[in-house]
Amino acid sequence: MSATRKMMAQNVPSNRVINSFPQAYDAQASPYQKCNFHPKVKSACSENRTGTVGLKICKAVLVGDVAVGKTCLVNRFCHDVFDKDYKATIGVDFEVEKFSILSTPFTLQIWDTAGQERFKSIASSYYRGAHVVIVVFDLSDERSIMSISRWMADATAAADDPVKFVVGTKKDLVSSASCRAVEERAKEIALSLGAEYWSVSAKTGENIQSFSFRCVSLTFDAAVLREVETSGTPQQKIGTIKVERDRADIYESRKKKVKLNNCCKT
Ligand code: GDP
Ligand code: MG
Repeated sequence: MSATRKMMAQNVPSNRVINSFPQAYDAQASPYQKCNFHPKVKSACSENRTGTVGLKICKAVLVGDVAVGKTCLVNRFCHDVFDKDYKATIGVDFEVEKFSILSTPFTLQIWDTAGQERFKSIASSYYRGAHVVIVVFDLSDERSIMSISRWMADATAAADDPVKFVVGTKKDLVSSASCRAVEERAKEIALSLGAEYWSVSAKTGENIQSFSFRCVSLTFDAAVLREVETSGTPQQKIGTIKVERDRADIYESRKKKVKLNNCCKT
């Protein structure tokens, strides 16, 4: 099994290989206070103890008002093109992207709406089982900020404690001053929703890969940690794991506080 898994990881294109933990866009605008993969995740990967993670598919869903740039964001990341009709042309409902993270194969299924958001609601089957929820808004259209909370509430109601993001698109259309002003409001909203904030441009490609890698890495870290914890010995399962995990998180955030000013800023 482990040999197969290593082979799968080696077949991933070089631009989908992640070996170090990607940093947040703005560490102050993220509830995920980690600078590195969890120590248990690192050792599980190096010892090939990631259970079914390499064989499972994690699901990411994108939501947000019509025309904020969801489809362009997916197209830029998955196909490195800026063409809103690209996905419709190749006729898929979701994209599948394969990664190699710490030499472990990991697959992310990325769901983009097929226009259902026009009706301001989306079938709950779209959200079901989502490991990642990405709420997208348009940095050049302040009205789209008003919908962030509603989209997040809708999407997370049917998901099981997903990793959450708020992403402002079309960064290329706004001046730095106006971007900063909109970002300030959006970051506040993101934090109040327990989500991490990013600004990107699908047109120029700015921050698309950094955001995607961060998204995939946080999801992978959570998935492997869940796997390691649930496959522990019965004794470990009785309450102690949770405490250990919290301690490890505190340890990572303490380390981070010291490093924040040096390594976690963009
Ligand atoms: P969706 O309805 O949220 O999927 O939005 P689309 O991805 O279809 O994009 C809506 C419009 O915004 C299209 O005309 C895109 O060309 C444009 N658009 C999307 N992303 C960007 C971007 O990063 N920069 C610019 N300038 N335009 C964008
Ligand atoms: Mg679309």
